[in-house]
Amino acid sequence: MNSMPRLAVLGSINMDVVIRCGNLPQPGETILAESATELCGGKGANQGVAAAQLRAQVAMIGCVGNDGFADRLLDNLAQYEIDLAHVHRRSDCGSGLAMIAVEDSGENSIVVVPGANGTLNVSAARASTDVIGGCDALLLQLEVPVETVAAAIEIARDAGTRVVLDPAPATAALPAELMQVDVICPNQSEAALILGFPVETVADAKRAAAEFIDRGAQNAAITLGDQGAVVSDGQNVDWIEAFPVETVDTTGAGDAFTAAFAVHWVQHSNPFDAARFACAAGAIAATRHGAQPGMPIPSEIDQFLSTAGTR
Ligand code: ADP
Repeated sequence: MNSMPRLAVLGSINMDVVIRCGNLPQPGETILAESATELCGGKGANQGVAAAQLRAQVAMIGCVGNDGFADRLLDNLAQYEIDLAHVHRRSDCGSGLAMIAVEDSGENSIVVVPGANGTLNVSAARASTDVIGGCDALLLQLEVPVETVAAAIEIARDAGTRVVLDPAPATAALPAELMQVDVICPNQSEAALILGFPVETVADAKRAAAEFIDRGAQNAAITLGDQGAVVSDGQNVDWIEAFPVETVDTTGAGDAFTAAFAVHWVQHSNPFDAARFACAAGAIAATRHGAQPGMPIPSEIDQFLSTAGTR
């Protein structure tokens, strides 16, 4: 495929409010914080931005609310030239919001209000049938209602559009139909929660990948942070070592990985090459602050791959 890959991303759009404080407040306590920063986030939006930075044509399917954040969230996505025709504005709730308090030790407490993301219903997925059918792949995560994700998988399958699922945040009882995808991309803790056994080593991840294939996935890519990723296409399984980098902020590394995997894979159909490209994207994202501002462009990945040695 020589033209730009076309991706639909059905998922969450959030405002992340990051509050820096000396110590996290105890229940009932009031504290003064050092700063508050508003960052556009949500796993859906992050993966959309990451794919757009990699020169994919991205159509976002999601919901924002009736608050002041909605315009800013939409303007931000529009700056990345993401198609917003299938992003709905809800009049009866706020936009998705994450309040992230981080204390000086690095420990954090997070409160997520799904808001409009929780209203992304099955009929919204059905209303996006044409855009899903017109794309090379559909990217999904689990920050929107699970029945909507299941419906989107079915719509994509009927249309012959490939599906990449990042099962985050994971639940132990992941419905079986959610495993019937072309690629499943969990991190270690998500794989462990879904499968019910620890996923810490490369050997564990190989076992997890085999289990996801047994449960119906065509390909599985288990990300292991600074240990890289394990990939299986059902016949072969391979460990892609992480690229050694000076880690600054790993927020968004998983989103960079998933989006980069999808962009590469729809163009070249090789999950092992896609995972190497995605590990480079994840490593670059880990060297930068914030999720969306840290997403690499193709020339940065090319340069990184031509100069980086694996450990
Ligand atoms: P998540 O953010 O979902 O927990 P991971 O932490 O597993 O995902 O990161 C996704 C990918 O990003 C990894 O497979 C790896 O290739 C890359 N990555 C993440 N953290 C680092 C790091 N500290 N050093 C190098 N690569 C990293």
